[in-house]
Amino acid sequence: MTGEQHYLAGLDLAGRRVVVVGGGTVAQRRLPRLVGSGARVELVSPAVTPAVQTLVDSGAVVWHRRPYASGDLEGAWYVLCCTSSPEVNAAVSAEAERLRVFCVRADAGSAGTAVTPATGDHDRMLVGVLAGGDHRRSAAVRDSLLAALRSGVALDDAAKPVGVALVGGGPGDPDLITVRGRRLLARADVVIADRLAPAELLEELPPSVEVVDAAKIPYGRAASQDAINELLVSHARAGRFVVRLKGGDPFVFGRGFEEALACAAAGVPVTVVPGVTSAFAVPAAADVPVTHRGVAHEVVVVSGHVAPGDPSSLVDWAALARLRGTIVLLMAVERIALFADALVSGGRPADTPVSVVQEGTTRGQRVVPSTLDKVADDVVAEGIRPPAIIVIGPVAALADELGGA
Ligand code: SAH
Repeated sequence: MTGEQHYLAGLDLAGRRVVVVGGGTVAQRRLPRLVGSGARVELVSPAVTPAVQTLVDSGAVVWHRRPYASGDLEGAWYVLCCTSSPEVNAAVSAEAERLRVFCVRADAGSAGTAVTPATGDHDRMLVGVLAGGDHRRSAAVRDSLLAALRSGVALDDAAKPVGVALVGGGPGDPDLITVRGRRLLARADVVIADRLAPAELLEELPPSVEVVDAAKIPYGRAASQDAINELLVSHARAGRFVVRLKGGDPFVFGRGFEEALACAAAGVPVTVVPGVTSAFAVPAAADVPVTHRGVAHEVVVVSGHVAPGDPSSLVDWAALARLRGTIVLLMAVERIALFADALVSGGRPADTPVSVVQEGTTRGQRVVPSTLDKVADDVVAEGIRPPAIIVIGPVAALADELGGA
């Protein structure tokens, strides 16, 4: 072919019969998007892959468990021919041609009457690329287009988002924000950033974006959250799109829900973008799995911002001491001696493995392996400072088994 000569169209398949012949890995790759389009997908094949079986079990695809037979395409709006047999594929496309139904030939694109573009999603928009049958090229161009759109390098004139987005920035490494978080950040007029929000993400922003460091908002300590809430509301009311960038996940010890409530009370639209929480990501970055088959079947994430026995504490330390699984402590560096004591006196063995991870996922990451009876001393001796995660339980001893650095 001398050039791409197809006519690129968007098909509205919702509720319409689409027949897929063949249930192998080729069909497996095409089915999710077909199902996503709302098509009534019927699959004809003597066997299917486990992933296709899952779609069948969920009711998303109807499976006719038999070889293709002439007449199968009756009433179809679109046909995908995905068997490994060129004869079957030829018979299917001949029937489609006769019925004047567009038919994709997965084995020989140019022999069909339709081809599937390399496709991707961005912000409720579809990007499709056809490259005259050069799949590598169409996939590479699709990937670059999506990357450019997601990073904000390629301009997208979508309607501007409004209100406030509470965005989880992830545990520290700028690569660990979600795609949606990054997309919204690229469209912000104002960014109000937490102390633990990944700083590199802010450096990428154009100078026209107003960046507010929430830690430096001048108010007394007790009033600082109110000051942040007011700032979110006042910027949004002035018509600016505000991204409230938080460390980890906005709703894990991040006061994110208070901010969402403040926006809602002020009638400001608020969107929550979940984030990768440090509670799970930081142990993982230190090769500690928070659960592991046969080792830990539970994991509890606990805030250490008040001491055990403090009247404002909502944590049942005696109950935690009876657990065999994993305890992940956040904000616990300062009071680790009290927590370790409470756990040991409540029955947790003194030699329970512990891993302390400071500044996880960042260049400054430090890991101090310890045990419950020694961790308080080790934290002091090693000069561990917040932010740090303290993982308690048998899983903390598993990192060695990976044999990493
Ligand atoms: N919303 C955040 C947690 C906020 S509480 C999240 O989901 O991750 C702040 C605590 O998180 C810190 O005191 C520390 O215990 C933990 N933390 C956050 N980032 C961390 C990091 N990169 N390394 C170690 N601990 C971290």
